[in-house]
Amino acid sequence: MNTRYRVTIQGIVQGVGFRPFIYQQARARRLTGFVTNTSHGVELEIEGPDPALDDFLRAIRQEAPPLSRITSIQVQPLPTEGDGEFQIRKSRAQETRSALISPDTAVCPDCLRELRDPLDRRYRYPFINCTNCGPRYTIIRDIPYDREKTTMAPFALCPACAAEYADPFNRRFHAQPNACWQCGPQVALHDQGGGRIATPDPLAETARLLQEGWIVAVKGLGGFHLAVEADREEAVRRLRARKQREEKPLALMCPDLETVRSLAWVEEEEAEALGSRERPIVLLRKKEPNPIAPSVAPGNRYFGVMLPYTPLHYLLLDQGLEALVMTSGNLSEEPICIDNDEAFERLGGIADYFLVHNRDIHLRSDDSIVQRVSGALRPLRRSRGFVPVPIFLAEPIAPVLACGAELKNTVCLTKGDRAFISQHIGDLENLETLNFFKLTIAHLKQILQIEPEVIAYDLHPDYLSTRFALEQTGIELIGVQHHFAHLAGCLAEHGLNEKVIGLSLDGSGYGTDGQIWGGEVLVGDLGSFERRGHLEYLPLPGGARAIREPWRMAVSYLYQAYGEDLFDQPLPLLKHCERSKIELLLQMIRKGINSPLTSSCGRLFDGVAALIGLKETVAYEGQAAMELEMIQGGDPEAPYAVEVVGDAGVYRILPQPIIRRVVEDLGRGISRERISRRFHLTVVEAFTRVCVRLRDDTGLEKVALGGGVFQNRTLLTEMEARLNREGFKVYSKSLVPTNDGGISLGQAVAAHYIRQNNRKGPA
Ligand code: ZN
Ligand code: ZN
Ligand code: FE
Repeated sequence: MNTRYRVTIQGIVQGVGFRPFIYQQARARRLTGFVTNTSHGVELEIEGPDPALDDFLRAIRQEAPPLSRITSIQVQPLPTEGDGEFQIRKSRAQETRSALISPDTAVCPDCLRELRDPLDRRYRYPFINCTNCGPRYTIIRDIPYDREKTTMAPFALCPACAAEYADPFNRRFHAQPNACWQCGPQVALHDQGGGRIATPDPLAETARLLQEGWIVAVKGLGGFHLAVEADREEAVRRLRARKQREEKPLALMCPDLETVRSLAWVEEEEAEALGSRERPIVLLRKKEPNPIAPSVAPGNRYFGVMLPYTPLHYLLLDQGLEALVMTSGNLSEEPICIDNDEAFERLGGIADYFLVHNRDIHLRSDDSIVQRVSGALRPLRRSRGFVPVPIFLAEPIAPVLACGAELKNTVCLTKGDRAFISQHIGDLENLETLNFFKLTIAHLKQILQIEPEVIAYDLHPDYLSTRFALEQTGIELIGVQHHFAHLAGCLAEHGLNEKVIGLSLDGSGYGTDGQIWGGEVLVGDLGSFERRGHLEYLPLPGGARAIREPWRMAVSYLYQAYGEDLFDQPLPLLKHCERSKIELLLQMIRKGINSPLTSSCGRLFDGVAALIGLKETVAYEGQAAMELEMIQGGDPEAPYAVEVVGDAGVYRILPQPIIRRVVEDLGRGISRERISRRFHLTVVEAFTRVCVRLRDDTGLEKVALGGGVFQNRTLLTEMEARLNREGFKVYSKSLVPTNDGGISLGQAVAAHYIRQNNRKGPA
């Protein structure tokens, strides 16, 4: 007796070898029927004896191709048809439109083995790939995902590759970027002026140049990297000077896990992340001593390390290179270079040589960065390897385009129960990045077939993302407060839509009162919020300049704590800084000239870092706070006493007592390491107190954490632990960055529910 089922499978099931997998599984069990791609995913009809069918369905769940992600399987009985065999049926083009697109994926073990096998026809071929690996998102021009719609279009398959492409039993069946030495892209080495260097082996020659200390721009999957050997201090300094990147840490690439372990401590989960098909940069605690040049990550206890992810990277590192600096190929804060000619022009002043190839990158995508904190891997940048895999929401929402914030910008598009967050776009502070922002929005709308009904934007009137949103016509626009978006993103990630306490701690975001918020305790759900607590306001003297010059914040906190007596305090800062400079700043503060008020938590970290003489000016936002975290001592310490005052149902945490205790400790000769530790614990204590009071007021027991301050390992770990001890249930982000790189998700989801509330009208 035979049975027949219709099986509908949704998720990432197209362009990942799903139909051939089904075909092979059906044939192996002598089942009959067919499989086809539809607008929803993959659909098949399958007929045969029950035990074989059960085993077939088990295999779909357990043995699905590595790049697929099944979100649902529906099985429906049908009358038997008695067809003779199992077939793959052609999909109709218009029906593949809403299928999910696979992200770019690191070279798979099978391809890597062939790459290193002298008998294989693709031995040392830098663009080897198969259905289970290779470029996807970065080469797709349009959908459906077929070779003609990718940057592989100019390369006609040779007969050997075409045969693989057509054979359902081959690992390269329908592998769109399939290529070989005969028919595919090739690499070439160029000099600084763009002139091609004649060499039989560009990769070996590149390795030799790197070993001589030259800077080489290497074209990768989502853009160019700038590479130097990581143990050459002089070369690393030269790279920093030319790239105008003074202090931000540089990423490393090592040939294998063993080499990584010689530089840094690697826990099991971190090793898994390093070797995962997303191949992100993983932040790993440095081993001391280590052979890496000090300029790679100054003032930092961590290295950002990745393993090779393209065959080209493997071939390069196989030449005896132990560790390369591989930093994005751009000048300062501009977007990463992707075109060869663009690279010669824009990177000509940085790189001495260029290792390029002729497979175009359609859409740039920077390396992703993750760190393991408080029991989970957390992205600091969710980009190459992860995008465009959606975040699945608890229920379908309206199609929304969320424009993100300013720094670390990403955008988010929603469709049904899926939220698609873009790759890292960057700091929206220049025209190049703004153009990339617009391009990404247009591209994602096209390949995901989403026509948004709503645009969500940050309330900050000067953000380029906000201005872009406000220029759009004929579409509903919804502003979402920055810290509310951090909260909503955390709820969305956890599939929650109920009132919770939200701790949104970051550097800055525009408040509903026009001030600069950043140390916020909210009570809200996905559609509304109230501000129920915050750090006490104080002036931000010089506005944005105070971000680059933390000494300004230190003076502002000192003035808040001591008034005119601040000069009587025994502080290193007062010795370093000219009195006239401080007086000038005080005048600005007193008169309120260019001194907006802020409740920022990030600025409190900056201020304390400057106060204890750690960092008075910085090269990038958050650097002082980061260094304050890094110097912390490990011995047990008690927090300083905290003062929380409350009126009109809003609690305010006073910084003055904290600042006074820091100053006292300095005067008593307590080490900066100990002060830093005490300060961290104090911040945790202060916000915990506010949560406890709010629980008394509201009965709420869930706390959602969001905002860039939670990139700080100590703060996240200790805050979770402390709130758990108080009996709270704590939610933090691990699918999207807690920094502004994840804020577009919260904006998108919040905009939908705000709109729903508006439509319902006041209750
Ligand atoms: Zn492969
Ligand atoms: Zn070929
Ligand atoms: Fe933020």
